Amino acid sequence: MTEVDVWLEAGRDGRSFTYSDARGLGVGLGDLVRVSLRGRPLQGLVIACRPSGSSLLSPGDPPPPALQPVEALLQRAAVEPRWRQWLDAMAVRCHTSSFRMLKAALPPGWLGQRVARPSAARELWWVEPVLQPVDADTHAQAEMALPPRQAELHAALIQCGGTWQRQLQADGFGPHLIQALVRRGLARRERRPATALAITSLASDTPVASDMGGRTLTDEQQRVLEVFAQQPSGGGMLLWGVTGSGKTEVYLQLAARELAAGRHVLLLTPEIGLIPQLVDRCRRRFGSQVLEYHSGCRERERVLTWRRSLEAETPLVVVGTRSAVFLPLEPLGLLVLDEEHDSSYKQESPMPCYHARDLALERVRHLGGRLLLGSATPSLETWLQLSPAGPLALARLSRRISSQPLPPVHVIDMRAELQDGHRRLISRALMDRLAVLPERGEQAVVLVPRRGYSSFLSCRSCGEVVQCPHCDVALTVHGSQPGRQWLRCHWCDHRAEVEASCRHCGSFAFKPFGAGTQRVLEQLAQELEGLRLLRFDRDTTGGRDGHRRLLEQFAAGEADVLVGTQMLAKGMDLPRVTLAAVLAADGLLHRPDLRAGEQALQLLLQLAGRAGRGEKPGQVLVQTYSPDHPVIRHLVDGRYERFLEEERTVRQQAGLVPFSRACLLRLSGPSASGTATAASVLAERLRPLCAAADWQLLGPAPAPVARVAGRSRWQLLLHGPQGSDLPLPAGTALWEALPADVALAVDPDPLAL
Ligand code: ADP
Ligand code: ZN
Ligand code: ZN
Repeated sequence: MTEVDVWLEAGRDGRSFTYSDARGLGVGLGDLVRVSLRGRPLQGLVIACRPSGSSLLSPGDPPPPALQPVEALLQRAAVEPRWRQWLDAMAVRCHTSSFRMLKAALPPGWLGQRVARPSAARELWWVEPVLQPVDADTHAQAEMALPPRQAELHAALIQCGGTWQRQLQADGFGPHLIQALVRRGLARRERRPATALAITSLASDTPVASDMGGRTLTDEQQRVLEVFAQQPSGGGMLLWGVTGSGKTEVYLQLAARELAAGRHVLLLTPEIGLIPQLVDRCRRRFGSQVLEYHSGCRERERVLTWRRSLEAETPLVVVGTRSAVFLPLEPLGLLVLDEEHDSSYKQESPMPCYHARDLALERVRHLGGRLLLGSATPSLETWLQLSPAGPLALARLSRRISSQPLPPVHVIDMRAELQDGHRRLISRALMDRLAVLPERGEQAVVLVPRRGYSSFLSCRSCGEVVQCPHCDVALTVHGSQPGRQWLRCHWCDHRAEVEASCRHCGSFAFKPFGAGTQRVLEQLAQELEGLRLLRFDRDTTGGRDGHRRLLEQFAAGEADVLVGTQMLAKGMDLPRVTLAAVLAADGLLHRPDLRAGEQALQLLLQLAGRAGRGEKPGQVLVQTYSPDHPVIRHLVDGRYERFLEEERTVRQQAGLVPFSRACLLRLSGPSASGTATAASVLAERLRPLCAAADWQLLGPAPAPVARVAGRSRWQLLLHGPQGSDLPLPAGTALWEALPADVALAVDPDPLAL
């Protein structure tokens, strides 16, 4: 009989317990099994196997207690050793335990206290063409003799590579027609758990039109493929291409090459809102080889994709969000991160706090494959990774595929509006543009930057913003009662008083900036009477298909203006949109964050990319009190590279990230004083470690949002030299010093505070 050690979740971490394979399941290393621990069912990972009785016993020892049996084998070879080694290295990088890292990587419910319920997933009929029959002659005969409708169905199936029967019925192919093809041996039918995509594409009744061949690439695109072909395994490339320049087409053609070579492809996108269109595009090209893996999938669907990745005999394309970076696809040929600059690739909570871009590069280094980062506005971090200094090659797509150039940007100086006595949210210029939309049959998108959780102090007369004297960020207003407010820097904890008038020009139009989205929307509705508005933000795009539903409404012309937050700027391709406007760019420019400028410019350029994608040329209107801000200047001149270079210099000279490192420790607990005390205790423990490693410790300080969902939040910020290790004790020592009700998350290289 075999004795096995099973890694189980016990308290904050994993611990191994010994069981026996008494039921003869043939349990082996790396298997996922179900066992009982103190009467409770648990799922765990087999981390050691040996013949039973092999543990050394001295003659005087009591006989070993009878071992409990492994109850079920849930997944054979769930964890492959090399993949596990990579993951362990990533655990160190994220300052978390191997067990927590593994739990986060595996599909939800696989490892842990909770045992996945037996599935109640909906199953539907899936129909696939039979491509390689045993006897080619009979197959050819069967094909020849097909009645016309069956021939059409057969051709459609071959084109899409397989689809749901309901989809075929929606396209006009009845069940008996399908049956007839199955009887001839030209198609096969099976029950499959319905993927979310099956359900959505059925709901919206979009036929799966095929696009197997791909397009003839432009010369520019062709060159990109050539540069990528020269990259070694373990390396990669940044594809910097303006919006609409054909980056996605490049991903698809590179994917086709990998599939043909028998390797898998992983395509990541930052937001689940962008998944459906990318999946649709991949399905049209690669048919049923395409799978999804993201938080919008049902648990059961994620498990299914994971299983198919483990067991795949033919190469797959998986489309997913950041957590898909962990999928055990072997061999992986190509890993794409589209919109690589997007901050949604960073997981902030719960632990492990990781950036999918870092993990992706480490993955190809450890496990092979090549990385492709795509963006119209690359991040500074990636820019610094370009060769020869770093591992990434660079290729560019500088022209849009369509004839329309990028739309021109007009800046509206809101200070001048104020001077003219116009105190509305919407400038007169924007008003005039919006008013004529319906008669021209055009549409607009209007961005209302989501009110940052914190506001800053700005002068409406001259545009001056109160900045931290030490860091390149706006100071943040704290406290809710007027008269009892103060200013604080989130990076260095500098504090200052709130002043009543502008130091620069003396104006008293000097107050915290930032109005709630809801209020802005109400005012818009009032001022734009007669225009049909559609609201697009977290509140209205809830649910799995929220994004898609709203976008479809807008695309169908049910509204003239789509008003929304940041997500509006991402990836939509609507030919009637000729105007993209920003109501208050200042909210983006002065966020209390070192990356505020970079992220603002990325967002604004992306928003600009929404306008003028169809026949008519587009236009961008930006309202701001700071028309001379570098971000606005570079938005107008469209020279993103120049901006990156300037930004690099500023940060390098000031020793700011990424020319230094930061690490944020977030604490939260039910009681304000308990959490504050725990934060101070932690700070005292860390102070000597930081001093020894030449790191600086700031705080403890209340988090920018000091209370969330009834929990108080405090934080410690650590700064240290570029490339140095975190000055933290190894393992779980940090947590052991904390009271049980205080949670701590370690966020190395935080993106936001
Ligand atoms: P991006 O991902 O850079 O925004 P896409 O790949 O979505 O760009 O391309 C923009 C549009 O141009 C899409 O409608 C796409 O189908 C089309 N397109 C891309 N490459 C080509 C090509 N080589 N020939 C014709 N059309 C193309
Ligand atoms: Zn002023
Ligand atoms: Zn500061």
